[in-house]
Amino acid sequence: DPVLALRDIAKSYNHGNPNEVVVLRGASLEIAPGEAVALVAPSGAGKSTLLHISGLLDTPDNGEVWISGQDMARQSDRRRTAVRCADVGFVYQFHHLLPEFTALENIALPQLAAGQTSAAAEARARELLEAVGIGARADHRPAALSGGEQQRVAFCRALANRPRLLLADEPTGNLDPETSDTVFAALMTLVRETGLAALIATHNPDLAARMDRVLRLEGGRLDQTVSR
Ligand code: ADP
Ligand code: ADP
Repeated sequence: DPVLALRDIAKSYNHGNPNEVVVLRGASLEIAPGEAVALVAPSGAGKSTLLHISGLLDTPDNGEVWISGQDMARQSDRRRTAVRCADVGFVYQFHHLLPEFTALENIALPQLAAGQTSAAAEARARELLEAVGIGARADHRPAALSGGEQQRVAFCRALANRPRLLLADEPTGNLDPETSDTVFAALMTLVRETGLAALIATHNPDLAARMDRVLRLEGGRLDQTVSR
């Protein structure tokens, strides 16, 4: 099964009003385990809307969202919330780390919320920080970390509960090119090593070209461009 499948998704805002904005009009995609897919779109084309619908933060007007072989429209609210928390990880352009907690604590918190013991949460946090090359920064608060380090912590937090799907909205958009490259390489290592499915919105053509496929969102539909 694909980890994420969207079938014919339609979405508009202010439906039925004169100022209705039709954002998606039949968008479809499938992402397999271990696949990193770039989402490329002009600003305002609906990339955030598509990511929110994929991560069950918003509902489509029409069409189906399948996660791990399950039609999300047929699940209870409780089940959808469980899927969003356990199976989906989010990363945004700005990291939104909690400033009063250390890197390690920021990564441990979602695991504690999911019922892990603090020893297990801490071990997992350290393992992830090592994997992205900043094990030595575990006890630093976000303000004491560089932008690239902060964003790597945000990736670790998104992956702490071992989601099957990672959704990222311009995850390296506020970093300089060199840092962006390091952070992206760390992310790709995690995707390859964990069999994660990743949908990563980016304006950076070099990063898009390093993923398995590129999807272009234009006119409310997804154009399945194969990059290699
Ligand atoms: P992108 O992330 O590609 O910039 P968005 O998904 O944020 O695009 O938005 C797509 C379009 O829908 C834009 O024209 C935006 O202004 C509009 N839009 C997004 N969210 C809302 C909303 N809650 N209400 C009304 N219009 C919205
Ligand atoms: P991004 O930085 O990813 O492009 P946006 O700034 O487009 O994100 O959107 C941030 C949030 O604001 C999203 O949740 C989006 O749905 C909402 N939003 C975007 N445009 C509008 C709008 N015109 N009216 C209301 N909400 C909007």
